[in-house]
Amino acid sequence: MPDNIPTTTCSAVLCRYDEIALKGGNRMRFENQLIANIKKVLTPAVNLHLIRVRGRILFRFDELPEPTITAAVAKLKKVFGLASFSPGCLIESSLEMIEQTALSHFQHTYSQLSTTDRGSISFRIRVRRSDKQFPFSSNDMEIKIADQILKNYPNLNVNLRNADITTGVEIRKEWTFVFSEKIQGPGGLPSGSNNGALALLSGGIDSPVACYMVMKRGCPLHFLTFHSYPYIPGESVDKVARIVNVLNSYQLNGRLYACNLAESQKVIRDNCTAKFRTILYRRLMMKIATNLAESLNLNAIVTGESIGQVASQTMANLNSINHVTDLLVLRPLVGMDKVEIIEKAKRVGTYTLSQENCPDSCTVFAPNRPATTSQITRLEQEESKTNPQDLLTGSMANIKQISV
Ligand code: ATP
Ligand code: MG
Repeated sequence: MPDNIPTTTCSAVLCRYDEIALKGGNRMRFENQLIANIKKVLTPAVNLHLIRVRGRILFRFDELPEPTITAAVAKLKKVFGLASFSPGCLIESSLEMIEQTALSHFQHTYSQLSTTDRGSISFRIRVRRSDKQFPFSSNDMEIKIADQILKNYPNLNVNLRNADITTGVEIRKEWTFVFSEKIQGPGGLPSGSNNGALALLSGGIDSPVACYMVMKRGCPLHFLTFHSYPYIPGESVDKVARIVNVLNSYQLNGRLYACNLAESQKVIRDNCTAKFRTILYRRLMMKIATNLAESLNLNAIVTGESIGQVASQTMANLNSINHVTDLLVLRPLVGMDKVEIIEKAKRVGTYTLSQENCPDSCTVFAPNRPATTSQITRLEQEESKTNPQDLLTGSMANIKQISV
């Protein structure tokens, strides 16, 4: 228990999870991963001490200034595995202390409301008492605290079903936690609780969303982008690097690899039937991605493909692209409409960046009428007009890691 117990300043955060709670024998592993991830994003700004509570995680920290708390809250909103969390005060379990803290905590939350909102708000007190030795029941405590608040704010209403402010009090033998805010986390599973994958990331709207969805299931990602410098400007890689920065705010240390495909695209342009160009580029991209993923020990590839979105994403063409790899290819957007993807991109925070106008590698030497269907034997025939192994080796030599 801290010696100097602050009454209004936040001194702890209670973290809740949903899906991890459903895990059987593996639950501890997921919980430990979540704890490690929270520690990584909050340390060193915050000096954390972990307190395990069944089904939830409580972190106590030294008294902190408001801006540090605000920054910590922003970071926690991006920690996968967190269903919700509440910053609050950790105090000793005495009646006087609980009443006093709950009141000052409520006052603090109330003072942050705009003056127009303040007149008509309602509140409720929720007490959870795990310490059955504590002399007052949960219900008694709720009434006692509400009375204190009503004494100070006689115009407020109590609303047990749908209150504007809910002050929560969790009473245990060793400590009591008081909070007034329940902030939504991103859900999902903690980053690192599943295997890693390599994502094919363009500067478009779709692939960043696909990355987010796979990352949300606990898979840390590294990223591979293709460009065609000097046929498209060098800024296209810079744009992807900025998208990676946003995605890395949900995970740690995802690396970005950039592969210059221009020379290989010229060979395909000069030797293969025009209408198959895009699909041949895509097959080559998939081969390169497979090689890189294997060299990085990653067992899956992620793309932002969605059935029927463009000519290269008809069922037949998706199959032709898929055919060149033995790795698992995750396509989390496969059944999503563009409007749904855009909506999600806005929430993830990549939409504005994706909107910046920049040509994509696949548009270089693109045919006017790309084939919407393709047979694998026909594509293999086209590829045999080049030296496919040389194209792959040459492209692999054109991969560079980009600092993000
Ligand atoms: P949008 O459809 O919003 O323009 P996109 O990234 O989905 O963006 P598509 O042409 O639909 O672009 O490409 C389908 C998928 O192929 C992408 O989601 C991505 O996974 C991969 N891809 C396309 N172009 C590139 C590229 N230049 N670098 C890496 N991956 C790419
Ligand atoms: Mg797309």
